Amino acid sequence: MRSWVRLLCLALLALCLAPLPAWAKQAVAVGKGGAVASDSAIATGVGLSVLRRGGSAADAAVAVAATLGVTDPFVAGIGGGGYFVYYDASTHRVYTIDGRETAPASASAKLFIDPATGMPLAFPTAVTSGLSVGVPGTLMTWQRALERWGNFTLAEDLKPAEAVAEKGFQIDPTLREEDRENAFRFADFSSTRALFLPHGALPAVGATERDPDLARTYQQIGRSGVGAFYGGPIGKAIVSTVRHLPLAHGAALVARPGLMALSDLKRYAAPFVAPTHVAYRGLDVYSMAPSSSGGTTVGEALNVLGNFDLRTESRVQQLHHFLEATRLAFADRNRYIGDRRFVDVPEAQLLSKAFARQRSCLIDPAHALVSPVAPGHPFAGAGGCSPKQPASAALPNDGASTNHFVVADSKGDVVSYTNTIEELGGSGIVVPGRGFLLNNELTDFDFHPLQSGVPDPNLPAGGKRPRSSMSPTIVLKHGRPFLAVGAAGGATIITTVLQILVDRIDLGMSLPAAIAAPRASQRNAAKTQAEPAFLALPSTPGLESLGQSFTVSDTSPLDPSITIAPTIGVASGLELLGNGRFLAAAEPVRRGGGAAGVLKPSP
Ligand code: GLU
Repeated sequence: MRSWVRLLCLALLALCLAPLPAWAKQAVAVGKGGAVASDSAIATGVGLSVLRRGGSAADAAVAVAATLGVTDPFVAGIGGGGYFVYYDASTHRVYTIDGRETAPASASAKLFIDPATGMPLAFPTAVTSGLSVGVPGTLMTWQRALERWGNFTLAEDLKPAEAVAEKGFQIDPTLREEDRENAFRFADFSSTRALFLPHGALPAVGATERDPDLARTYQQIGRSGVGAFYGGPIGKAIVSTVRHLPLAHGAALVARPGLMALSDLKRYAAPFVAPTHVAYRGLDVYSMAPSSSGGTTVGEALNVLGNFDLRTESRVQQLHHFLEATRLAFADRNRYIGDRRFVDVPEAQLLSKAFARQRSCLIDPAHALVSPVAPGHPFAGAGGCSPKQPASAALPNDGASTNHFVVADSKGDVVSYTNTIEELGGSGIVVPGRGFLLNNELTDFDFHPLQSGVPDPNLPAGGKRPRSSMSPTIVLKHGRPFLAVGAAGGATIITTVLQILVDRIDLGMSLPAAIAAPRASQRNAAKTQAEPAFLALPSTPGLESLGQSFTVSDTSPLDPSITIAPTIGVASGLELLGNGRFLAAAEPVRRGGGAAGVLKPSP
């Protein structure tokens, strides 16, 4: 289709957009022609419309992500970063793009050490500051994906999101709740207050949310390309915002400006990197390599579980093995995973079957291990069963921000894309006049060495990427896509993705049932974080009798006086059913539920 015809179609689409009702959602869809599952009904609809007009899975993914930046601004947007996993049907290979945010060149290991006290900043203090803002990678990720797989231009793929930002959409209860949880800090920034607390108050459910600044930002990127962001006027606005925080009149916040310079934006790259790969029960599981810990940690846990025949075990033993596998894998993650350009990551060893056997033999079917368990010895080979290393008690973050979505097109290309601005609401800082929130991704670094005398792979450094837990995954069966899954939820992403894979592959649950199932997340802590519904399962007393113990977390990591829903992870996925049919599945309930759609429904 000629370019002007496509633009006309997009303009007509925009005209049809009255403020859109945001919360009529369908969590499962089955059919042909292409599929999308995302957090937002509007974003899923946009993705399907791009596919319908001949866009590739990459085009649809960019359009979905850009729209989520409008409809789900507290978990997505061009102020953040993420990891893009793509199955290319023409080469039958899985590719990944590392669009992780990066520390400014002038950052050091003391980034989060308070010069006044010599002590690490409190986590909430660091989050809502300029120091936490990493160089955003989302827009460069879109550019790289479209250069390789796009049928349309970036400008064309941004058009539907521009239209939604311009026309507005109705605020749903979930967005209202996320705004409420952040209002105490959004109020400190004039730009954020103007966008998300109009007239100084929380907007009502059903009110129209518009973001004309973001529409103009997208237009400018469409006209001028990503250079407008990576060194151009939008980049200048970002740097100015980070260095001179737009504090509201009377704000009580102590301003801690960031270090980002325009040169940091100019040198930003979103490289293609080789995916992680493990073979599991005859399937091939591909995911994200470091700087994310997702692929190695899910992969190591799968390798550990591969040493047990879960199908013949009792439900209690299945869950016991799941919890013990992630307990061990997190010990290794915390000790060894960081940005590979800065630390020597034993990726191949951590993903080897021999190393998994060494770790598996620590699992006792009659007793839970006592956390913190020590990391293994991947550099030393795979012998032995009792690693003698100091164990770290650090519990990685477990926020519930971020979003994951999946797309498939009729050619057979598949996208599994997790993107984020880190905390719900990121740093809390909207770039004035530009309409988007900046991330706080640099708080994913360890603020200080977790253990004295033990090297910490995840300390800040200039140009370094903080360790992530994002685990966008594509599973192949006989070399063709079978599943695409991923999740939001900080470090619980890893356990959520693993639980869904095990439930689907080993226990034979349907994908929607696996996504809906009650979750627990063991990350080498004394207590396993669990949803209330998990605690109510008939198997939980049996787990407790093995020494597993559980806790439910229901307060905000930024302000413990704020109560939040005690859920773990927000997932979405696709299953390829054969004969060109897709099953798209989103969350039925968590974070307000997600939206699945297919081009040609055929139940
Ligand atoms: N920043 C987190 C990570 O990269 C994701 C944010 C979240 O889901 O809470 O692992």
